[in-house]
Amino acid sequence: MVARVAAGSRADAQQAIDAAAAAFPGWSQTPAAERQRIFLKAADLLESRRDEIVGWLARETGCSFGFGMFQMGFVPGLFRQAAGAAYAPIGQIIPSDMPGAFAMAVRRPVGVVGAIAPWNAALILSARSIAAPLVFGNTVVLKPSEESPFSGGLVWGEIFAEAGLPDGVLNIVTHAPGEAAPIGDELVQDPRVRRLNFTGSTATGRRLAEAAGRHLKRVVLELGGQNPLIVLSDADLEYAVDAAAFGAFLHQGQICMSARRIIVERSIADAFIDALTRKTAGLKVGDPKELDTIIGPLINPAALEMVQRRVDAAVASGARVLTGGAATGPCFQPTLVSNVPADSDLDRMETFGPVATVEVVDNEDDAVTRANATSYGLASGIITSDPDRGTALASRIDAGIVHVNDQPVHDEPQMPFGGVKDSGWGRFGGTFAMDEFTEMRWITVQRGRRPFPF
Ligand code: ADP
Repeated sequence: MVARVAAGSRADAQQAIDAAAAAFPGWSQTPAAERQRIFLKAADLLESRRDEIVGWLARETGCSFGFGMFQMGFVPGLFRQAAGAAYAPIGQIIPSDMPGAFAMAVRRPVGVVGAIAPWNAALILSARSIAAPLVFGNTVVLKPSEESPFSGGLVWGEIFAEAGLPDGVLNIVTHAPGEAAPIGDELVQDPRVRRLNFTGSTATGRRLAEAAGRHLKRVVLELGGQNPLIVLSDADLEYAVDAAAFGAFLHQGQICMSARRIIVERSIADAFIDALTRKTAGLKVGDPKELDTIIGPLINPAALEMVQRRVDAAVASGARVLTGGAATGPCFQPTLVSNVPADSDLDRMETFGPVATVEVVDNEDDAVTRANATSYGLASGIITSDPDRGTALASRIDAGIVHVNDQPVHDEPQMPFGGVKDSGWGRFGGTFAMDEFTEMRWITVQRGRRPFPF
């Protein structure tokens, strides 16, 4: 057991919304300098607890030391950039055709924001779900995943309280396994919650967006990905292999951006697949507390079973396991599968685990066709030594994020992060999040007497 955590109910969500709504008038009027100060302090406090929190990430979510350190590196930067964004909501003065009228567009915070975060990159994704909403002057109710109530939730209560965030501005509702729905329902249905943001599976996001639609409530949705990594014939072979292994297997493939479909041009395919298979087979599987472990445990036994089921089903319909293909204790071995039928679940559906499919294509047009043959559209990568060729192809990939000569797993706090198609809508990141978590208002001042027709 890692910890005992409160099993919050719908009534607790209601209380959290009460507190957030009561805190909104004060917080929304707080000077930008004060919001900035709190976020800068939160970044420092987080850094001062680095080793402890990396430990929490390992124990709560099976996160390897490397990915824990990556998360701990990312979030202070996210907070420091958020601190700067306190000054970003500037308005406009717009020429009015009404004589004597002075017209402005000004941004205002929206009110209470509901944030629903997942467990997989618990620290980053929960931090992202609260940072922009708070710094733009909204109050927040955060519902972390039941798999990461501390490193994806309660940790922010401790850090922001110490940083001086006033009471009621950030509220966190944890819950028992399987009890997310009542809290989510309350966030969707209470009219005081003006916006939602959700990071998680496409199935849950779709249900949430349907329900939010009935209440005419906007939701930022960051959902799954079935992300392609294209390896072109002119790629540097060693670099391509390192990129593919990192993209597919970081955090044992439990990242929405993970490279799940590796698509390689035929002329380089044999050498690339051979080298990638050897590298994959050599990745250390085991205890995430050991510093050199690359592949830690999957989040829970159900995830392990699901990954095994998908791999077995693909094999039963003709696929071939190049390496891996089975569990080792609570871990799934890093796995490459070729000859995967196009209609199999492994090809079509996001499989949250260390499994990538490998596919050989004749040319770059076929690579683009295959890359786009998915209902998802989050992240993608094109490995090539020719930046012009890569840039030309990038515009043909249906994804919110394309990295040329890199793999898909990459994020920086200031970038417009989000997907197209079933990967969601809206953007986290930098000032792009301003469109999501502020409301544009049109205000006019009539400096005289305008004529009226009657
Ligand atoms: P995953 O399978 O990756 O955990 P989920 O979409 O189930 O993805 O989880 C993402 C977040 O959504 C978690 O915080 C989870 O508790 C929450 N969640 C799950 N079901 C619901 C629901 N019915 N309403 C609101 N949130 C939910």
